[in-house]
Amino acid sequence: MVGSEPVVSDARSSRVGELAVRRALPARGRRTVGAWCFLDHMGPATYSVDARYDVAPHPHIGLQTVTWLFEGAMLHRDSLGSEQMIRPGQLNLMTSGDGVAHSEENPGLASGELHGVQMWVALPTPARGGAAAFEHHDDLPVVAVDGGELTVLMGEVAGVASPAKRFSELVGAQWRVGAGESVLPLAPTFEHAVVVTSGAVEIAGAPLAPGRLAYLAPGRDEVALRARGSATGVLIGGVPFDETVVMWWNFVARSRDEISAAYEAWLKRDGRFGDVASDLARVEVVAPPWYERER
Ligand code: MN
Repeated sequence: MVGSEPVVSDARSSRVGELAVRRALPARGRRTVGAWCFLDHMGPATYSVDARYDVAPHPHIGLQTVTWLFEGAMLHRDSLGSEQMIRPGQLNLMTSGDGVAHSEENPGLASGELHGVQMWVALPTPARGGAAAFEHHDDLPVVAVDGGELTVLMGEVAGVASPAKRFSELVGAQWRVGAGESVLPLAPTFEHAVVVTSGAVEIAGAPLAPGRLAYLAPGRDEVALRARGSATGVLIGGVPFDETVVMWWNFVARSRDEISAAYEAWLKRDGRFGDVASDLARVEVVAPPWYERER
């Protein structure tokens, strides 16, 4: 199955704390790819004791955060009491359920390059009302494909499954290809997106480099990448998400009322999100734009 042509969109430049990111999802006209609702390509950026990228404690609802590094290190702390360093080749997966808080910190006195992705998965109902959890995986499966290889972060691809906990039919993988043509296997019932994090490729004939996202509609069982040299990036996909996603700040919900309630809980420190054992002052946020007029 060849399938329809890829639809390529531009990521927008943004910042998370001091860290420059390319935000490929959500995009204009595209809120989700499967249950994936957020994709930040972070860096590459140099960090040091004097130029830290710390992201101070902040809350989440309704999602899983999927953090994967190509270079550098990041210290995760959360309100469950987790404290976990992440390095290249390792996955940090935080499931927020109905509420969790975390920080992502420069490790100690270290300096170096930070390069990676942070992606969010929207939790389906009823998992989005469930308990928070944190997982760290440092031995994810790698599968060879024509012209390259994939590390399976979430879900299953080419018959190889990640042990990471998921709540919907989806896939997330890092791909690495060499010069020439490579073929990534796809699930025909999934929609997919491909992002390049280093190098450049042609995807089904369309040029793709860092800062862009190629969307592939359901109906494909593979997609061809052509590269002049080595390139790497991420593949995400899943069964099109059939719940209406409303996102504001760090919250993934179904309505403004749910977001207003989460905002109030953070503002009032009412215990919904718990406390993060961090030296950093927690992130404060202004009210959502609809908040005052709808109270
Ligand atoms: Mn976060």
